[in-house]
Amino acid sequence: MLSGDQDIPDGIGMARLAWTRLPTADGAVAEGAAAPASPSASDDELFAGVVESLDYEVVENCAYREEQAQRSKFWVPYYVVLKWLFALLIGVGTGLAAIFINLAVENFSGWKYAVTFAIIQHSYFIGFLVYIIFNLALVFSSVYIVTHFAPAAAGSGIPEIKGYLNGVDTHGILLFRTLVGKIFGSIGSVGGGLALGKEGPLVHTGACIASLLGQGGSAKYHLSSRWVRIFESDRDRRDLVTCGCAAGVAAAFRAPVGGVLFALEEVTSWWRSHLMWRVFFTSAVVAVVVQSAMNWCKSGKCGHFGPGGFIIWDISGGQEEYSYQELFPMTIIGVIGGLLGALFNQLTLYITKWRRTYLHKKGKRVKIFEACLISLITSTISFVLPLLRKCSPCPELETNSGIECPRPPGADGNFVNFYCSKDNEYNDLATIFFNTQDDAIRNLFSAKTFHEYSAQSLITFLVLFYSLAVVTFGTAVPAGQFVPGIMIGSTYGRLVGMFVVKFYKKLDVEEGTYALLGAASFLGGSMRMTVSLCVIMVEITNNLKLLPLIMLVLLVSKAVGDFFNEGLYEVQARLRGIPLLDSRPKQVMRNMSAKDACRNQKVVCLPRVSRIVDILSVLRSNKHNGFPVVDRGQNGESLVIGLILRSHLLVLLQSKVDFQNSPFPCGPGILNRHNSSDFVKPPSSKGKSIDDIHLTEDELGLYLDLAPFLNPSPYIVPEDMSLAKVYNLFRQLGLRHIFVVPRPSRAVGLITRQDLLLEENSNSGTTELQSTSV
Ligand code: ATP
Ligand code: MG
Repeated sequence: MLSGDQDIPDGIGMARLAWTRLPTADGAVAEGAAAPASPSASDDELFAGVVESLDYEVVENCAYREEQAQRSKFWVPYYVVLKWLFALLIGVGTGLAAIFINLAVENFSGWKYAVTFAIIQHSYFIGFLVYIIFNLALVFSSVYIVTHFAPAAAGSGIPEIKGYLNGVDTHGILLFRTLVGKIFGSIGSVGGGLALGKEGPLVHTGACIASLLGQGGSAKYHLSSRWVRIFESDRDRRDLVTCGCAAGVAAAFRAPVGGVLFALEEVTSWWRSHLMWRVFFTSAVVAVVVQSAMNWCKSGKCGHFGPGGFIIWDISGGQEEYSYQELFPMTIIGVIGGLLGALFNQLTLYITKWRRTYLHKKGKRVKIFEACLISLITSTISFVLPLLRKCSPCPELETNSGIECPRPPGADGNFVNFYCSKDNEYNDLATIFFNTQDDAIRNLFSAKTFHEYSAQSLITFLVLFYSLAVVTFGTAVPAGQFVPGIMIGSTYGRLVGMFVVKFYKKLDVEEGTYALLGAASFLGGSMRMTVSLCVIMVEITNNLKLLPLIMLVLLVSKAVGDFFNEGLYEVQARLRGIPLLDSRPKQVMRNMSAKDACRNQKVVCLPRVSRIVDILSVLRSNKHNGFPVVDRGQNGESLVIGLILRSHLLVLLQSKVDFQNSPFPCGPGILNRHNSSDFVKPPSSKGKSIDDIHLTEDELGLYLDLAPFLNPSPYIVPEDMSLAKVYNLFRQLGLRHIFVVPRPSRAVGLITRQDLLLEENSNSGTTELQSTSV
């Protein structure tokens, strides 16, 4: 018999923390390390049933050991050089992708506004129609690409990448088609004027580029190369994807240090100093690539893509000093940010759940219709609302202030002359609503304050844009939340700034500074990042003097937000059924043992030499991915000799070369038939399934010796170890399975720090264990 406690020593269990539900003292079920997928999450066609863990553990089976032994002495330098080369390529690739997206978005937006402004000189109605159709076409292209070609490209992708780096593989997120869908989808959704940004998608783009490079290209599209395929393990790929994430942020905000910190603070779960250097290098490469492109574009070769194309809102001319009296309104900004950010997370959670249950189930057409409808509403609001505002005369500005008032029709610049009777007037609502996002933010951050916005316009914009951002979030297009967050935050920040200017007349207060603090507070309140966000804000505004203020509002907004709910990415990850493991175990785990988590389960295991038909029936009877393998000891007792992965079994069943007639362990020689890359599963693909196995009647009666292919040294914990300790082990080592075993009857030795110190023997050139007397 293959399963249960007959074939294996009593008490062995399998601990897998991600889905564990923990009984509380009163017998109720409490949320454990991570909540299981909500029922509505399972409705989602993309994620249902396809979330599996990654294998970060090195499977030290015979094939692996043999390969290690055969490696030449040049292998390690080659491996190191290739790692750095990949870091360089990821930086260049992500930088180029960011430039392409920015060029396309700026040019589409530029043409759109140029044509619309030209037409409204004659007819507002026709201008309105053209504006709507332009936006609709772009949004339609985006949603069509996502729904028909790359479903995993919808959304920002950060929750999925965060999950990947936490050890959870989500189907489709790192495929070539997702990369293409992400790039072209972002161009459509951002160029089409929806209330979303391109920064989150750029993080996902960087991760896809990194993963594809790691697997040597796309095998499916015959774009792969074998000589670079040495980063095939999930472990190596994890490092590359981390570099990709940092590169994405560095490219999106031109913030290399922010990129490194974002990867460290927000997305990765495992961090090493070696990785830090490579991530730093990748971010620096991105900064150079992007800067070179910017310099090239300065000469006007890039159409509408001017200096405003990349996010950098230089407010170095802003407020130099601040007084202690201002700390109070700044704290208020932090509180508002925390409240509005937490509300944003909660509203988007409800709407996404509702969407999944009632809307997206109905198919692609509904998704397309929904995105187009939201585009229509967004275009109408942004065009029609400014018409209700009266224009104001342009103030006298210094010639080198960098502010253009009004903006000539269709040109890049600042204040928009829209529906104004005189040429030297501007419409304050149109300046932020009927404009590209980057220009709108630059206007909100503008430090040359001349009270250019009325409170009425700012409140109107805040309410409508906030609502649009909430509704747009979750549509089937690539969507980032950074830029909408910055727009929302800078609006109420500026409002607070206006009051401060009014009440503290003697102080030299700039409304733009408050707008910046507002932006930081909203992002802090919603995404709950602190250090990385702080550095990103400083890098994009180029103003180091504001650092203490940004730190203050971020701390306040995060604290307020944490009081209500989790950060946006965590909430969305849980909603998608991605079982993230937090950095700390839950309190209840301290009073539970590893055995409690196993809940008297019957462990499904396999004998060392198994009949093919039995292996097949085990694989069909459950969805587990790891099985203990048992053998008989010399005295006939049961011994657990290792763990075999489902994916490895499927490879063996499909290749058939290891099938044998006899039910006895086989001799040496079989290893020539496989190398470790045979067992590699491409990232985020479905991998082999039991349905791919086709065997004849005769083959079903044959045997397979599992010993050479199993992991002979899986991690083991005693059954009474506290679950909190197991959790930390599991999380820190990035494990997928842990065996839970009874107390050992004896100890063969004890390893201490001294046993792990190795000393180079200069005479023989070998490495030896240091003597314990050292
Ligand atoms: P993952 O889903 O993280 O990739 P997995 O697929 O191997 O790992 P699941 O089968 O999804 O694990 O785990 C679900 C539950 O089944 C867990 O509670 C786990 O302890 C239990 N489990 C896993 N493998 C076995 C096994 N071989 N025998 C019995 N129970 C198992
Ligand atoms: Mg599973």
